[in-house]
Amino acid sequence: MDILGIIEKMLDGIEVKLNYDFFDNRKELENIADKIIFTGPIDKFYDYKFGELEYRSLRFETEILDKENYQGNAVVNYTEYEVPYTRIIEHKHFELDAKENPKTVITREYPDKWVQGKEPYYTINDEKNNSLYQKYVELAKADKNVIFGGRLGQYKYFDMDKVIVEALNCVRKELNLNN
Ligand SMILES: Cc1cc2nc3c(=O)[nH]c(=O)nc-3n(C[C@H](O)[C@H](O)[C@H](O)COP(=O)(O)OP(=O)(O)OC[C@H]3O[C@@H](n4cnc5c(N)ncnc54)[C@H](O)[C@@H]3O)c2cc1C
Repeated sequence: MDILGIIEKMLDGIEVKLNYDFFDNRKELENIADKIIFTGPIDKFYDYKFGELEYRSLRFETEILDKENYQGNAVVNYTEYEVPYTRIIEHKHFELDAKENPKTVITREYPDKWVQGKEPYYTINDEKNNSLYQKYVELAKADKNVIFGGRLGQYKYFDMDKVIVEALNCVRKELNLNN
C-alpha cells in the first residue's frame, strides 16, 4: 500500500475539512466535539494571554535546472557561516521513479525571522520561551476538553517518528491503555 492509501484508510469514515482554520470557525468546531485535539499554536489558542511564543521561520528558493542530476542526493546540509542557506533539497531523489527526468528541481532553505503570519517552523526552546510555554500548560490543565499535541501544541521540535510515538502515547493515556 502506498502512503496515500495508508492515509485514506486511516481517515475512512472521518469527515475531513481542508483549508478550514480553527480560529475562523472556533465556535462551530468547539460545539461539534466533546474533545478537541489541537495541533496549532497553544499561545494563539489562549489569545496570547501571557504573550507570544517565539519561533524560527524559513524562506525557500526553488529552481528548475536543465540537468538530470544536481547533487546526487535528496538533502545536502551546509553548515559554513559564509553560506547563506542551510540546506539544498533535490526533490527527485526522494522518489526513485522520477530519476529519469532530464530536468531537476532544487530548493534552497534560508533561515528567516518569524513574525505573525509566517509559518512557525521551529520552536525556540530557550529559558524565556519555555517558561512562557509553562504558563500556557498550566492554563491547559484546566481545559479538560482539549488535548494539545504536536510541535505547536507542545511547543517542542519533534522528528516525524517522535511525533507519531507521542500521538500513540497520547491515545494510550486517553483510552487508559497500558501498552
Ligand atoms: C523545515 C522542517 C524540516 C523537517 N524535516 C524533517 C525530517 O527530515 N525528518 C523528520 O523526521 N522530521 C522533520 N521535520 C519534523 C516534522 O515535520 C514534524 O515532526 C511533524 O510535521 C510534526 O507533526 P505535527 O503534527 O506536530 O505538526 P504539523 O505537521 O505542523 O501538523 C500540525 C497541523 O495542524 C494544522 N493547524 C495548525 N494551526 C491550525 C489552525 N489554526 N487551524 C487548522 N489547522 C491548523 C496544520 O495545518 C497542520 O496540518 C521537519 C520539520 C520542519 C519544520
